[in-house]
Amino acid sequence: MELTEATKKIIEGFDKFVMPTYKRNVIVISRARGSKVWDVDGKEYLDLFAGWGVSGIEYCHPKVVEAIKSQAEKLIHMPNNYYNELQGKLAEKIAMNSFGGKCFFCNSGAEAVEGALKLARKYGSSTGRHEIITMENSFHGRTFGALSATGQAKYREGFSPVLPGLRYVPFADFSALRGAFSDETCAVMIEPIQGEGGIHGASREYFKKVRDFCSDHDVLLIFDEVQTGVGRTGEYFAYQLYGVEPDVMTLAKALGGGFPIGTLVVQPRLAEVLVPGNHASTFGGSPLACAAALAVFEAIEEDNLLENVKAMGAYLREKLESLRLKYAVIKEVRGEGLMIGAELTREGTDIVERCVRKGLLINCTAGKVLRFLPAMTISREEIDHAMWILDTVLDESS
Ligand SMILES: *Cc1c(COP(=O)(O)O)cnc(C)c1O
Repeated sequence: MELTEATKKIIEGFDKFVMPTYKRNVIVISRARGSKVWDVDGKEYLDLFAGWGVSGIEYCHPKVVEAIKSQAEKLIHMPNNYYNELQGKLAEKIAMNSFGGKCFFCNSGAEAVEGALKLARKYGSSTGRHEIITMENSFHGRTFGALSATGQAKYREGFSPVLPGLRYVPFADFSALRGAFSDETCAVMIEPIQGEGGIHGASREYFKKVRDFCSDHDVLLIFDEVQTGVGRTGEYFAYQLYGVEPDVMTLAKALGGGFPIGTLVVQPRLAEVLVPGNHASTFGGSPLACAAALAVFEAIEEDNLLENVKAMGAYLREKLESLRLKYAVIKEVRGEGLMIGAELTREGTDIVERCVRKGLLINCTAGKVLRFLPAMTISREEIDHAMWILDTVLDESS
């Protein structure tokens, strides 16, 4: 791709001083609104990946922008040794839309997962149990605890020894889970739909069996909803699709409408497992972050965004299904709401790159799965346009 002088200059300066920890597209984005983003040269892109789902409702949603602006003038940060009205209101909002209980606020997905692991260990410690079972092909983040819980060896390579006491079993396989269980087990952690792993789900029966088994053995069931939570699947939280409640749930990505915030939500009976001195986060749940997250919930409620996720999710899947019938390279289309994967018969990186060149941002994960996490406000016209670009790209590469 031909780079303009302006873009070249920014990238050269950047690469001199920023660590090369990401594979980056050579685009410098400077502005975004809704599902559209613009680079420094003014070129427009349609984003069907909404910044890894972080700008979950959409980029720069007016309610979020307004909430951040007005809160920034009053109070940006105040640590947790003082009460904070907005944090209480946000916790209530989350509890009322999920399973009651209480929240602990932090700043990212990995940090929410760390909190969940610590809570599980503390809970287990009273009965001398410490083992946590997670799923193969899972993704829980990059910090040491979250990395240790992540059931993909490639992410742990070069960082051993990781945290002891983690075991991995195949996802959606109840007998494997039962087989790995021991009297050391204190928790099971699952992404209700594996995101990074390639959009893999499991049946209602599986979740029901896991739920019953955990309850019968006094083992905590943790759902990592960092990617699936806050409306992504057409419900507020993905567990609501399966008719089971977790004991502990982690949230982050879409929660702050683009502003960093994460949380750990626990059932009422677990609200006092962590007490003063056990866990903390200096930035966690600042008034500014909570104002942004409250605006996200307001937007979802007032604009009926869950309905749009269901309708547009069905529409996007239908469109991808017709591309599957047209191009043999698409093997399967799957997902819930606006969390959709299209599995290919081959690696998909070049398809993503071609789409970017034509002004469409998508993602490819687990090598062969095109991943779509569009903004919750996405329209039929935007999906049509995106699918027209993808159709062109598939046509050119077949
Ligand atoms: C992205 C993700 C994380 C990690 O979140 P960070 O904010 O990057 O730390 C954890 N769990 C799941 C399921 C995720 O998708």
